[in-house]
Amino acid sequence: MSDQLRRIVLASRPQGTPSTDNFRLESGPLPRPQDGQFLARVIWLSLDPYMRGRMDDSKSYAKPVAIGDTMEAACVAEVIDSRNGDFARGDIVMGGFGWSSHALSDGTGVRKIDPAIAPISTALGVLGMPGHTAWVGLNDIAQAQSGETIVVSAATGAVGSLVGQLAKQKGMHVIGVAGGAEKCAFAEKDLQYDLCLDHHALDAEALQKAIAEAAPAGVDVYYENVGGKTLEAVIPAMNVGGRIALCGMIAWYSGKGLADAMPLPRVWRTILTQRLRVQGFIIFDHFDRLPAFLQDVGPMVRDGRVTYRESVAEGLDAAPQAFLDLLEGGNFGKQLVRVGDDPAG
Ligand code: NDP
Repeated sequence: MSDQLRRIVLASRPQGTPSTDNFRLESGPLPRPQDGQFLARVIWLSLDPYMRGRMDDSKSYAKPVAIGDTMEAACVAEVIDSRNGDFARGDIVMGGFGWSSHALSDGTGVRKIDPAIAPISTALGVLGMPGHTAWVGLNDIAQAQSGETIVVSAATGAVGSLVGQLAKQKGMHVIGVAGGAEKCAFAEKDLQYDLCLDHHALDAEALQKAIAEAAPAGVDVYYENVGGKTLEAVIPAMNVGGRIALCGMIAWYSGKGLADAMPLPRVWRTILTQRLRVQGFIIFDHFDRLPAFLQDVGPMVRDGRVTYRESVAEGLDAAPQAFLDLLEGGNFGKQLVRVGDDPAG
C-alpha cells in the first residue's frame, strides 16, 4: 500500500479552453481515520464534462472548486482502514472522493457497491450517474414514445450510448450524431442506432441536410448533449409537439463558437411555431428515480441487452490530459482513470 496521499488540485482558472497548467499534483502523508471515519484507496475515478463548469468561478447549479482544492469527482474505492461501524475493510464503495489516490470519509453520500452485480467501474458509467441521466432524460424529461424519431448527440458517450439503446428498445427510430467514422460504426453496429452521422465529416449545412434526410417524418425528440452545430442542425427538423431534453451543451463549455451561434430569435421562433417543450434537467434533482433506474437497466447490463464501452486512462497523473481530451471528443465511451488495482480484475 502506498503511504502517500496524491491528489490533483485546481491550480488556476482557465480562460476559455483549459490546459494541464490549470492542474497541479500534490502529495502528502496518508491520513488516519478518526472515530466515525474510514480511509479508502481509489480504484476508478470518473471524468465528466460537468467538471469544466466547476473550474470557472461563475454562477451555476453547483459551487466551483476553489483554487488549491482537490478537483471533484465520483470514484469507486476500497475501504482499507475503518473506524466507522457501517464500513469494513475490503468494502467497495462509491463516493465523491475527488481526483485523489485516497480519501477519508464519514460515509456521507457513500454507497456500497456489490462486485457480484457487474464490474465495479460500471457504478460510474452505465449503472451510475451517466446511465441514470440517460434513463431520466429519455423517460421522464422527453417522455419518449414508441414509433417516434429521436436524435441523440454525443451518441457513443457515457450518456448518449445508453439513450440510443434504450430508445431503440422502446421501438423508436434512432439517429445518432458522433465524432468520427469509428464512433459512428460502433453506434450502428453495437448500440443499435438506425443511423449515425459523423459531425466531423459534415459542415453545419450538410449536417442539417443529413438530419432532414434521416428523419423524413421530422424529429420528435432531441436528446441534447452538445449544443453547437448539432443543435442548430436539429432545430429546423423538430416536429410540432417535439421535446428537447436539454442534458448538456459541451461544445460551448469553454466558450468556443458562441459568436457565430444560431441567433436566439430563430430558436425562439421554432419553439413557438412547433410548440416545442424544451426542458433542462440536472440529474441530482432526480435521485428519487435511482432505484427504478437500477431495477430497469441493471438486468439489461447483466444479460447483455445493453452494452457499454469505457475509455481508460492509466494512473492519477493521466487525469488532467484525459479530461482535456474528453472535452474535445478524445474519449470513446465512458472516460475513467484507473487510479489503483481493481480487485475484481
Ligand atoms: P461523453 O462520454 O459523451 O463525452 C463527451 C463527448 O462530447 C465527446 O466524446 C464528444 O463526442 C462530444 N463533444 C465534445 N465536444 C464536442 C463538440 N464541440 N461538438 C460536438 N460534440 C462534442 O460525456 P457524457 O456522456 O458524460 O456527457 C454528455 C453530456 O451530458 C455532456 O454535455 C454533459 O455535460 C451532460 N451531462 C449532463 C448531466 C445532467 O445532469 N444534466 C449529467 C451527466 C452528463 P463526439 O466525439 O461523438 O463528438
